[in-house]
Amino acid sequence: MKRIVILACQKANTVCTGAGCLKAFNQKTKTFARYSNEELELEAFFRCNGCGVWDDGMQEKLERLISLKPDAVHMGVCTKFKDGTRCPTIQRVADALSKTGAELVDGTH
Ligand code: SF4
Repeated sequence: MKRIVILACQKANTVCTGAGCLKAFNQKTKTFARYSNEELELEAFFRCNGCGVWDDGMQEKLERLISLKPDAVHMGVCTKFKDGTRCPTIQRVADALSKTGAELVDGTH
């Protein structure tokens, strides 16, 4: 069984329900197709606390994510800037989870 965490951008909240990510997860399509023969469990759907914000809440959320010991972390396309680079806040979260052994995956759907 693979334990999955999805990371998304808070700014996407204004236009995004998360339905695209969850559909791909539930149907094991797009970047979740790699798990076609495995059971999946979505452990968390994380959004940051806004640009430039690393407050106590963010630290608490990161520690919670670490405690979940996910096998893989999927970063939504919303976490990338128009030039294709990743938001450094999301990259910081992803890097911390990578250190615990989680595989980092670019994209959800
Ligand atoms: S910090 Fe990054 S992920 Fe969060 S709202 Fe800003 S651009 Fe989006």
